[in-house]
Order: sequence, then C-alpha cells, then structure tokens
Amino acid sequence: MSVPERQARSALARLVTQRGLLRGNLLQRRRVCGKPTCKCARGELHASLYLVFSEGGKLRQLFVPKTWEALVRRWVADYHDARRLLEELSRLYFEKVCQRQD
Ligand SMILES: [Zn+2]
Repeated sequence: MSVPERQARSALARLVTQRGLLRGNLLQRRRVCGKPTCKCARGELHASLYLVFSEGGKLRQLFVPKTWEALVRRWVADYHDARRLLEELSRLYFEKVCQRQD
C-alpha cells in the first residue's frame, strides 16, 4: 500500500470510528425577534445557526440551538473531512484502473 493511501485510510478510520459525523452545510442567519424593545429592533440582529441538508432531493433546514453549536460545527467539519478522504482514496483507485495496476 502506498504512503498516500495508508495516510488517507488511517485518517478516515479515525474519523469514522471516533468522531461524530453530520452531513450538511451550516448557515448563519440574522433576524429580528419581533419584540419592539429588543436590541434587534435597533439593528443588532440575533444570529441563528441552521444545518442545511438535502433529503430525498429536497433541501431542508434544521435549527441548531446555541448549546449544540460547537459540537455540530465539529461533526459537520469531520463529515466534510471524511468525504474528502474518501474522494482521495477513490482517486488513487481510479488511477490504478487507468494504469492497469491492482
Ligand atoms: Zn430581538
């Protein structure tokens, strides 16, 4: 096994076996809550985080509570890393087929 393949495999194994994985992209929205005396009425908007993901061909959004934000950000980042590593491995095997090596 080549060095790049071994590195990609062990990084992927670490992610898949030890970390949470969450598919989607994070979207920060700024909004007003509607209370006339709130700071948002003076332009200091509230920030809310959403996970945007596709399901059955449709885009959906999931509100992420403040207390979950750090965890969700890590899971989403780890999912993206896992996808990138899978893609790297696939490219190595694609090359093997192109060059007729097994
Ligand atoms: Zn407000």
